[in-house]
Amino acid sequence: MTEPFIRNHHLNVIKNQGRYIQHCFRDVEDSNVMQAVKGQAADHVKDAFSALKEEEAAVIEPISEVTTSIGVEAFIGSVYPYVQPFPSLDKEQVRQLFPHHKKMQLPDLEAVDFSQRTYLGWNDPGHRKKFIVYELDGKLIGLEGRYTPSKKRDYCFFCQELMPVTLVSFETNDTDEGNPEFYRAIGQHICIDSGQCNKNITDVSRLEHFVRRVV
Ligand SMILES: [Zn+2]
Repeated sequence: MTEPFIRNHHLNVIKNQGRYIQHCFRDVEDSNVMQAVKGQAADHVKDAFSALKEEEAAVIEPISEVTTSIGVEAFIGSVYPYVQPFPSLDKEQVRQLFPHHKKMQLPDLEAVDFSQRTYLGWNDPGHRKKFIVYELDGKLIGLEGRYTPSKKRDYCFFCQELMPVTLVSFETNDTDEGNPEFYRAIGQHICIDSGQCNKNITDVSRLEHFVRRVV
């Protein structure tokens, strides 16, 4: 059995390409054009992975052979057994990632679908804090930022979609040897709704670069 190799952001790419094929089934009559659309969709999905083993590519390849909208749904369903879930966390494990916050508001973990998460994120409106948990190089990392409440729409730094966002500032690990008091903050517009952000995100390079700067 092929081991799970599809991360949440890959699954989002697969779903987006599937929706695009379904859209084309409605609008495109030329079978050659349709074949090209499906081939390109398969290429987009494969490009989202840095490398694919032969048996992993075999899981993706059927997207280029779907013939109906229902077939697209069946294809998407067929990849779920290969999706890597986010580590399932309980409240104590979350607390341990933020040892300085004795009174932090914890996320509603019961409501989180860990099977489809790139990161765990939640807001603590009382303290105007946004908390993020991400697994970097096999290690869970907790980040906290301060946010300014707002309802404006802008491009989210993580998912790159136009969404209701808030400006969140995080302290970085940038250092200045001559000044031990030095710290630099970076501010990013990030989706207010982390659940929605997880449904949008198709590339983790920005998120990972960001996490490395902050931890
Ligand atoms: Zn987002």
